[in-house]
Amino acid sequence: MKNAKPPLTTYLSTNGHLRPFVQLSVVVPFFNEKDVLPLFHERLTAVLDALKQETEIIYIDDGSTDNSADIVNFAAPTSSTVRCISLSRNFGKEAAMTAGLKYTCGEAVIILDADLQDPPELIPQMLEKWKEGYDVVNMQRAVRHGETKFKRFSAAAFYKVINFLSDLDIPENVGDFRLLSRTVVNHINELPEKNRYMKGLFSWPGFVQATIQFDRDPRFSGETKWNYFKLMGLAMNGITSFSIRPLRIATLLGALIASGAFLYGIWVVIKTLALGDPVQGYPSLMVVQLGLGGVQLLCIGLLGEYIGRIFIESKGRPSFVIKTINDHPAKEKEKKEIQCA
Ligand code: UDP
Ligand code: MG
Repeated sequence: MKNAKPPLTTYLSTNGHLRPFVQLSVVVPFFNEKDVLPLFHERLTAVLDALKQETEIIYIDDGSTDNSADIVNFAAPTSSTVRCISLSRNFGKEAAMTAGLKYTCGEAVIILDADLQDPPELIPQMLEKWKEGYDVVNMQRAVRHGETKFKRFSAAAFYKVINFLSDLDIPENVGDFRLLSRTVVNHINELPEKNRYMKGLFSWPGFVQATIQFDRDPRFSGETKWNYFKLMGLAMNGITSFSIRPLRIATLLGALIASGAFLYGIWVVIKTLALGDPVQGYPSLMVVQLGLGGVQLLCIGLLGEYIGRIFIESKGRPSFVIKTINDHPAKEKEKKEIQCA
C-alpha cells in the first residue's frame, strides 16, 4: 500500500524549534510506577535498539509522588532519544497522553502503558502494519489476564453502549495501546476540546485502520489506578463527549410517558362518568408518582452531565500544566548523531 519512506529531515515541533527526524515516538504516561519502570525501560529500549531506526521515548510523569521520574531520568544510556515531561500535578491519564502526543515528532507514534500490561515486544509487529500503509493499528485484547469477570463484562457492555449511542465506531476491547500515524496525531493535536476522552479521539479522525490481537498481561506490580467510580466517570465522559443520543432518548421517553398518561386520563374519565366506577386510589398513584419522579430525575441528571461538560469547556483551561521537561543525559550525544546522519 502507500507510505513511501519519508526523507531524513528536520521537523518543527509544537514550540517551533527544529527537531531531528524521528521515525517512531513511544509515549508512556505513568503515575507512581517506581517498581515497574526500571524493567519497563529495559524491555522497551531493548526493542527500540534492535529496530536500528531513529526513535524517541516521551515519558509523561503525571504528577508522581514517588521517584518514578528519577528512574527514567537517570536510566542507562540508550540509542533512543529519551525525554521526561513532568506535569505539575496528577491530571489523569487522558491529559498525560494529550501532553505526550503534543511533544512527539515521530512519523509513527505508539502509546504504551508503563505497567507492562502492553508488551513492548509487539512494537515491530505494529510497525510492520504501519509500513503496509495503515494509519491506525489497534491492539485488541484477546485475553485480559488479571481482570475480574465483572470488569470484563462491564467493559464489553460499555463498548456496546457507546457504539450504539455514538456515531463513532470505537473498536471493542482496544485500550490506549495503539499506533497512530503522524497524520492522525496531527489531527488529534488540533482538536481544541479540553476534557478529552482519548479512546474516542483516537478513532475520530478515521483513516485506514488495522487490528492486531494480543494477550494482555496482568500488571507487573502495584494496582490499577482506576476504581469503578473512576471507570464510570470515564464511561460517562466518553458517552457525553461523543453523542447527544441520550438526550434524544430522554425526549422520546418523555413523549411516550406523556402519551401514555394522556390515554390513561381519558380512560379514567370514561370509567368514572360512563361506567360509574370511581378509580381505586393510593397504590396506583404512588407507583405512577414514583416512577415519573425517577424518570424525571434521571433526565435532569443526564442534562446536567451535558451542561457540566459545557461549563468545563467554556472555561478553556488547559488540559495539563508542565512543570519540567528533562532530556535524558545521554540524549545530547545521540541528538548530534541523528542530526549528522
Ligand atoms: N496513569 C497515569 N495517570 C493516572 C493514572 C494512570 O498516567 O492518573 C498511567 C499508569 O501509570 C499506567 C497507565 O496510565 O502507565 C495505565 O494505568 P492503569 O494500569 O492503572 O490502568 P488499567 O491498565 O488498569 O486500565
Ligand atoms: Mg494497567
